[in-house]
Amino acid sequence: MDKTKRKAIIAGNWKMNKTPSEAKELLNAIVPAVKDADCEVIACVPYVDLSVALEATKGTNVKIGAENCHWAESGAFTGEISTGMLKEMGVEYVVIGHSERRQYFGETDETVNKRTKAALAAGLKPIVCVGELLWERECDITEEVISRQIKLDLFDVSAEDLKNTVIAYEPVWAIGTGKTATAEQAEEVCAFIRETLAKLYNKEVADAVTIQYGGSMNDGNAEELLSKTNVDGGLIGGASLVAEKFAAIVKAASK
Ligand code: PEP
Repeated sequence: MDKTKRKAIIAGNWKMNKTPSEAKELLNAIVPAVKDADCEVIACVPYVDLSVALEATKGTNVKIGAENCHWAESGAFTGEISTGMLKEMGVEYVVIGHSERRQYFGETDETVNKRTKAALAAGLKPIVCVGELLWERECDITEEVISRQIKLDLFDVSAEDLKNTVIAYEPVWAIGTGKTATAEQAEEVCAFIRETLAKLYNKEVADAVTIQYGGSMNDGNAEELLSKTNVDGGLIGGASLVAEKFAAIVKAASK
């Protein structure tokens, strides 16, 4: 990562794990372990844990994110959560377009784009996830897939708003599978994302965007992945649920 140009960000994505009491316990272990971090540290937690998480991290360097948000301000959308609800609570980040949402809950690039724009309009910072399926990589169309996702997911997002947007490159075949992309594969696609952003916006704007890698990043492989110029941090699933492992990844990103 190139800290002279952009912020390094390590974000945990807890998925559907941890009850409020368990969330408090985990954050009470994470907070002291990452207090000297020289990178941004975020925990993206289930909606029901947000309140407890915000309380547990108050006055610390750990920021809190949600795992999704709806694009409408309010209305008949049973089970959904608006950006205004998150903002009023004090939430700063929101994960959008995670592959599990695309795979199991019918998320499309169009809805990712709507959610991203709604988050930005509300003053939340979206972590927009993109990534190819295994068969797309095998068919050698990774760049086409990523380019399409970046163009559609960020359609109509201004250069000013892009400054508050984080991109997470998450090859779907590496998420929760224990199969990590090699540092070279991660660098290749993160660099391609930056080139795509430079074409859509300009080089200066593209250079300032934090592009994370996600997919079985852990305390053993983080340092190598994060040593790459265009890998500016990580979106961490499984390893974010273990305070020591998460703290070790934060330490690797702080070097
Ligand atoms: C994720 O959920 O975004 C993720 C990368 O999961 P894992 O680290 O478990 O592969």
